[in-house]
Amino acid sequence: MVLNDTELQTSLKKYFGFSSFKGLQEPVIKNVIAGNNTFVIMPTGGGKSLCYQLPALIKEGTAIVVSPLIALMKNQVDALRGISSEEGVAHVLNSSLNKSEVKQVKQDIVDGVTKLLYVAPESLTKEDYIEFLQSVTLSFVAIDEAHCISEWGHDFRPEYRNLRSIINRLGENIPIIGLTATATPKVQEDIIKNLDIPDAKLFKASFNRPNLFYEVRPKTKNVDADIIRFVKKNSGKSGIIYCLSRKKVEELAQVLQVNGVSAVPYHAGFDSKTRSKYQDMFLMEDVDVVVATIAFGMGIDKPDVRYVIHHDIPKSIESYYQETGRAGRDGGEGHCLAFYSYKDVEKLEKFMSGKPVAEQEIGNALLHEIVAYAETSISRRKFILHYFGEEFDEVEGEGADMDDNARNPKEKEEAGHNLVK
Ligand code: ADP
Ligand code: MG
Repeated sequence: MVLNDTELQTSLKKYFGFSSFKGLQEPVIKNVIAGNNTFVIMPTGGGKSLCYQLPALIKEGTAIVVSPLIALMKNQVDALRGISSEEGVAHVLNSSLNKSEVKQVKQDIVDGVTKLLYVAPESLTKEDYIEFLQSVTLSFVAIDEAHCISEWGHDFRPEYRNLRSIINRLGENIPIIGLTATATPKVQEDIIKNLDIPDAKLFKASFNRPNLFYEVRPKTKNVDADIIRFVKKNSGKSGIIYCLSRKKVEELAQVLQVNGVSAVPYHAGFDSKTRSKYQDMFLMEDVDVVVATIAFGMGIDKPDVRYVIHHDIPKSIESYYQETGRAGRDGGEGHCLAFYSYKDVEKLEKFMSGKPVAEQEIGNALLHEIVAYAETSISRRKFILHYFGEEFDEVEGEGADMDDNARNPKEKEEAGHNLVK
């Protein structure tokens, strides 16, 4: 199937109301429409969903979209129903559906109404579903958050490992599109190997976020006071403060409140009602600050977060990039401040010592790299981008002066020795 550029633009406008493609979307979409295997690496917010949604709407048959989170799937299905006249244009197939709902989904697929079928990887193992999907026309399989396949990713899901053999059973030569915001070469290799798509055309966007300012400060016993000072200086602006433990989240939120800062806590220990209440308060700007564990952030799209503070060092550069990436989505100011003390590293190491050896080894290797980041005296942006396999010119590159090391260079002979890999 080939569409000319005008037809493609028209469909983009018709379905999504956008007048132009973002970044690499257009070549990606053409490759998917042509029925080729495709591998997309774009930072969060880059517009990956459209890379499979638009081809799915255009192509004959139903596209299967594998995604790890029910909430993310539901959001997308609701949005797609909003842009289509057909309620059944998109469905989620999961264990929460009753018999008649499953029947309806199947009917919509058979009738050719359903263009996108969202499934969690574990649902896809159900024999009944596999047999049904064998009997219908599938356009392609999209695997969103494809890094879940790799133990080197930040969100390993063993069920993702079975996808290849399931897809093989669904039909012959079904094209695959894998998408992720994880750019590390190790994860990339794992994805290609596990999905067995060595021929996939790779589309990789730059991970540089030139509007983000990166800073690391030593963490002392006065860290809470340091944070309060920072937050007060940025009063009226939205910010996220990440802490490792739920206990610290609650403590720090309270300390901030006592000091006159409007802040809410957020962690997975609260029930879902409380969590959405606090989340909404932050999104609606009833409060400036959310103090959170890493449970906060996935799928949150607040464009004007002006700073992200790490009270504790995160467990990998990958996580750090994801978490800081929530700042400055609108292209405006985004200050990323991490507090670092080697004691925290020892804490994380100790925490990992209870885990299986293989997991420990990976965890320690990732931790070692974030330590090198915290201790480096070279451009932090260069360091991060190098980790993602990207060259960065620390003199001419976009955002070259946007970190503490670039603004206050340390002694020359020191610089550079910490660059890993
Ligand atoms: P990702 O999955 O890469 O994190 P999303 O698919 O969630 O990104 O898209 C991020 C945002 O970009 C969404 O709000 C989406 O509506 C918007 N977006 C996607 N493509 C375009 C486009 N061509 N023009 C304008 N906005 C777009
Ligand atoms: Mg996405």
